[in-house]
Amino acid sequence: MTPVLRFAPSPTGRIHIGNSRTAILNWLFARKSGGSFVLRYDDTDLERSKQEFADGIAQDLDWLGIAPDRVEYQSKRFAVYDAAAEKLKASGRLYPCYETADELERRRKRQLARHQPPVYDRAALKLTVEERQALEAQGRKAHWRFKLEHRIVEWDDLIRKAQHIDTTNLSDPVLVREDGTYLYTLPSVVDDIDFGITHVIRGEDHVVNTAVQIELFEALGGKVPNFAHHSLLTGADGQGLSKRLGSLSIASLREQGLEAMAVVSHAALLGTSDSIHPCADYRELIDGFDLHKLSRAPARFDENELRGLNARLLHMLPYAAVKDRLAFGDEAFWLAVRGNLSTLADAQYWHNIVSGMVTPIVAEADRDFIKTAARLLPEAPWTGDTWKAWTEAVKAETGRKGKALFMPLRLALTGLDHGPELALLLPLIGRERVVERLSTN
Ligand code: GLU
Repeated sequence: MTPVLRFAPSPTGRIHIGNSRTAILNWLFARKSGGSFVLRYDDTDLERSKQEFADGIAQDLDWLGIAPDRVEYQSKRFAVYDAAAEKLKASGRLYPCYETADELERRRKRQLARHQPPVYDRAALKLTVEERQALEAQGRKAHWRFKLEHRIVEWDDLIRKAQHIDTTNLSDPVLVREDGTYLYTLPSVVDDIDFGITHVIRGEDHVVNTAVQIELFEALGGKVPNFAHHSLLTGADGQGLSKRLGSLSIASLREQGLEAMAVVSHAALLGTSDSIHPCADYRELIDGFDLHKLSRAPARFDENELRGLNARLLHMLPYAAVKDRLAFGDEAFWLAVRGNLSTLADAQYWHNIVSGMVTPIVAEADRDFIKTAARLLPEAPWTGDTWKAWTEAVKAETGRKGKALFMPLRLALTGLDHGPELALLLPLIGRERVVERLSTN
């Protein structure tokens, strides 16, 4: 059996670090198992779903290196859901209810006041045909609830291990609204059956849904897939991320100049028994992927950790990985500066230091020293050894060593007291500019 995975975002906004983690886990599972990956837009809420968000999500996934094998929109499949609903009505599992939201709310409050669980009391099941007709004659439209079996639903969760949920404690879920539109539950199960989904990996906020959905899979005669519910992300402070998710959208992380593979490495390794480390491509993540490595504890997401990971990734990336995105410089430039970057955009800064205008800094006490250094500059062509040859000559003549030797040279050549190795920068700056920078004072 070839696994079929799916990622099912609602296109009512863009995806963020939390749901992209779900997408990445599904993608890794599909790639590792030789399976396929379905992107399913859960857009039954026609009012809030927008094509621009669906397009944005497709772009976000593409940037993350996820290439769906199949794309589906629930909004194009209403006829299939209608057929499933009819089947459930015929078997008595989907029944009409006429309570208004106010009536339900009053009932719920009464139950709570009596210390009863606020579970729907199935009053609508007791309506006679005449009572129903009377309600409809008043203009009331039915919404439709799925009649749960009130039993223990069990499954062997690939992350949480054995699960048991008693559906006696749950309200029969509304599957179809008064206006005939569908809530997420039924379309999701119908699609999982139709698309042959074998594994559903999603957040643990869906654990209770899973019990309901398993009853629904069975009621529709479908094969129940394997389930894996991963823990949710919290902020570094242990609180939920919901308020900050806007700035943690994949689009925003990309705009902030983070590397896709830093986001992917972070999302894939967070909350697992593996250390969080940068992976330059998917290979290592796929090889090491195993749902058993995921912890049930909430995974702490720390934006600073992601930024640190981004820098560590850049520090190890070969030139080929950035060549197309670097508008300037060559391999030697990249190898010289990559260790000093937080984001790729910082390369521009170092490019300016190498070949733009620099204001050399020469302390009064270093003037003669800099003059001597300028006199001892080796002739071109310059190589990676030039710095060593030059500074040894300067050391021999001036008697300076260590910081007293190197720092005045760095300040004069770059106008900064920190930066990439000067042995690598020197040939990039080139003799002409070096002569100029050393003679400014
Ligand atoms: N649209 C649902 C969500 O984003 C999908 C959940 C699922 O994977 O079934 O929560």
